Amino acid sequence: MSRRKAIVVGAGIGGLTAAAALRDAGWEVEIHERAAELRAAGSGLSVMSNAIKALRTIGLDLSLEKRGQVLESYHVRTARGRLIREFPFPSIIHRLGVPSVLITRSALQQALLEATAGIPLTLDSTARDFVTDPDSGEVTVRFTDGREARGDVLIGADGFQSAIRRHLVGPEHSRDSGYIVWLALTPFSHPRFTPGSVTHYWGSGQRFGLVDMGGGLLYWWGTKNMPTARSHDWRGGKDEVVRAFAGWSEEVEQAIAVTPEADILAVPSRDRVFLESWGRGPVTLLGDAAHPMLTSLGQGSGMAIEDAAVLARRLHGATDIPAALRAYEDERRERTRAMVASSRSVSDFEQSENPVRRPIRDAYFRFIPDRKLTATLEQSLTFAVDAPVLADAVMTEGSP
Ligand SMILES: Cc1cc2nc3c(=O)[nH]c(=O)nc-3n(C[C@H](O)[C@H](O)[C@H](O)COP(=O)(O)OP(=O)(O)OC[C@H]3O[C@@H](n4cnc5c(N)ncnc54)[C@H](O)[C@@H]3O)c2cc1C
Repeated sequence: MSRRKAIVVGAGIGGLTAAAALRDAGWEVEIHERAAELRAAGSGLSVMSNAIKALRTIGLDLSLEKRGQVLESYHVRTARGRLIREFPFPSIIHRLGVPSVLITRSALQQALLEATAGIPLTLDSTARDFVTDPDSGEVTVRFTDGREARGDVLIGADGFQSAIRRHLVGPEHSRDSGYIVWLALTPFSHPRFTPGSVTHYWGSGQRFGLVDMGGGLLYWWGTKNMPTARSHDWRGGKDEVVRAFAGWSEEVEQAIAVTPEADILAVPSRDRVFLESWGRGPVTLLGDAAHPMLTSLGQGSGMAIEDAAVLARRLHGATDIPAALRAYEDERRERTRAMVASSRSVSDFEQSENPVRRPIRDAYFRFIPDRKLTATLEQSLTFAVDAPVLADAVMTEGSP
């Protein structure tokens, strides 16, 4: 019997992980990517312990700890640098026995490209829609240039503007966060910039993050409340970023000062109303295509990686493919729904510029008992088969 074939649309973090995992699960795989070349944005991200554990459960070793920097400390400070709270990530990570890794997007992409070496990857290949054959159960993806690809399963890993999702559920609106995110990678040194350190600074309607990527390379991000029309079409320059963080802790001002203007990226921050049903027949969604979330928990790629691990496990040896896909979706629904909701509530809480709410925010994190904070953070860092639901958590990890 010939091997069954999975068509993966999208070669982002989720699509590449799914492709590698499905090949390991015995599937023939092909990947189709819209971009003409694979180039990761010049920024970083945190791949937290839950995602690394998910990869381990399916035997996929990307050696991320050797390619990035293991998270060693995590502090939240006021805009002027006064400590609000040291978060107990290191002790939780130690107890879980699985590292969390701070890594550049290009290093993560390289790891995933090595893991998918040999899998056919077609660039410049934009999926438009799909049709399913009720007799054979197969699915055909149709591309904008008229080509087609046929397989037993279609995985829409095509990100926030997913064409596969649009074909499944029709047009939808996105939900803006109310702020812009600026980010950059740059060499940096400062006494507070220690190996494996993550430091968040909270102001009024603004936040800033300093994250060590290893080797003296800093990933920084800054947020600022802004009307949607402006944040989605930002044409400002470095001057505006400098002004936004003027008077903040000296390492924040210095990080921006040493960054060339051309290296500062601006991205809008948005999510969608949670989608209850991600698939039909031999088609499913994964990662941002299924459950786009705001970046406050630094778990978007983590959820895409967890999805890929669960999907590969469910499809391994499956005889009833639609049933295996629905089982994957059922297994992922509650955890990802909670992450989407928590990301938004954390975001609203942290971006507050309300003069009454802001001190409450800082006091909450100063005084929340260690046990409660640890339990909340540990839930998000824990990947388990049938992972527990994340109760209305208030927490932050590596990113805006
Ligand atoms: C500012 C910022 C900071 C973040 N920080 C973190 C962090 O610290 N930790 C973390 O875990 N996550 C973080 N995230 C979230 C994370 O980047 C995403 O959740 C993750 O990239 C989702 O992966 P994905 O593969 O689902 O989608 P994507 O990475 O968006 O990949 C989708 C791919 O599909 C392709 N594609 C799109 N349409 C089509 C089509 N029609 N046909 C073919 N191909 C198509 C795209 O070109 C792309 O390559 C952050 C996000 C942002 C914006």
